[in-house]
Amino acid sequence: MDLYEYQAKELFAAHNVPTLPGTVVNTPEDAERAAAEYDTAVVVKSQVKIGGRGKAGGVKFAKTAAEAKEKAEAILGLDIKGHITRKVLVTVASDISEEYYVSYLLDRSNRTFLAMATHEGGMDIEELAVERPEALAKIPVDAIKGVDLAKAKEIVEAGRFPAAVADEVADVLVKLWETFVSEDATLVEVNPLVRDPQDKIVALDGKVTLDENAGFRHPGHADLVDQETENPLEAKAKALDLNYVKLDGEVGIIGNGAGLVMSTLDVVAYAGEKHGNVKPANFLDIGGGASAEVMANGLDVILNDTDVKSVFVNVFGGITACDAVANGIVKALELLGDKATKPLVVRLDGNNVVEGRQILADANHPLVTVVDTMDNAADKAAELANVGA
Ligand code: GDP
Ligand code: MN
Repeated sequence: MDLYEYQAKELFAAHNVPTLPGTVVNTPEDAERAAAEYDTAVVVKSQVKIGGRGKAGGVKFAKTAAEAKEKAEAILGLDIKGHITRKVLVTVASDISEEYYVSYLLDRSNRTFLAMATHEGGMDIEELAVERPEALAKIPVDAIKGVDLAKAKEIVEAGRFPAAVADEVADVLVKLWETFVSEDATLVEVNPLVRDPQDKIVALDGKVTLDENAGFRHPGHADLVDQETENPLEAKAKALDLNYVKLDGEVGIIGNGAGLVMSTLDVVAYAGEKHGNVKPANFLDIGGGASAEVMANGLDVILNDTDVKSVFVNVFGGITACDAVANGIVKALELLGDKATKPLVVRLDGNNVVEGRQILADANHPLVTVVDTMDNAADKAAELANVGA
């Protein structure tokens, strides 16, 4: 889960990483009030989960409260690379002498953590990484040893930070590592980390990605989820404990096992090329033990997606055999009753496949078509989605 800048900086502050005070608002009037309370120049910043806000006109300086209102008016509603600004952060403006860059991330390809740092921070770190990679220090961090003061000093030296701020940057790096580990983050990035004229170091921007698989250890993280912009079907699926991702096509997909579902998406997209370019409408993995209830929950989410024109149920019987899955589908359709309105193409294979197909044949449900192979089933589902369009 990606956080907004203001949320990232709240986590930083909780771990004693220096930040400046700020207030999140969603109207120009509230921006004015917030600025008036700080009684100093402020910066009004678009809160969207995408970088490059500064360049897109989403970060504006305001000398007075009246000006903060104007700037908020201009930024609220602003579209930044497809992300509409619904909230702005009104934050105390800082005098900047220099801008630096620091981050920690999970480096999957090297199976380790990585610290990245440079005294050349500011807006275009991606550009720097491509054009002058030697200017961006990359230091592996051992998961067990982490970042103590000695390691932090190594990062500071590699990033060639000025001597006058070396100790303070090292101190911030230790606290950022504490944030990274204790919040179970996979990314913590500060760009810019600034030096002010008094040589104070402050995190002016923050980007944090939290590991949702560790969510059970952090009851507080649930509050960071953005209810307003979360897709309602994804929210419903999450509440039902389903592994669901909404996509923008027309063929609803249910399968057991993430790998099978991924390949089902590919096969459906390929089949769709012959049927009006229909595409998968979602990813849904109902997992190994697909009970009737889980199948019903999954179908309920997918059938409530108005984009869905047909559904492809692709199951490989393993620990849960095909007869159990077939019973699950039949019971799910019973449970859903009139709510089930779209054609279902079912492909069953694996353990007890003969019994499973027999159960579906006996049920003889008008919406269900059983197809033997994955390719043919994908083709049928794509064809039905195209007809229904
Ligand atoms: P981003 O463009 O989405 O990464 O947004 P940032 O929060 O990093 O802001 C972009 C740039 O705006 C920074 O690199 C700074 O140069 C500038 N900026 C942001 N906040 C302040 C501030 O409080 N004072 C000053 N002088 N500049 C700021
Ligand atoms: Mn930034």
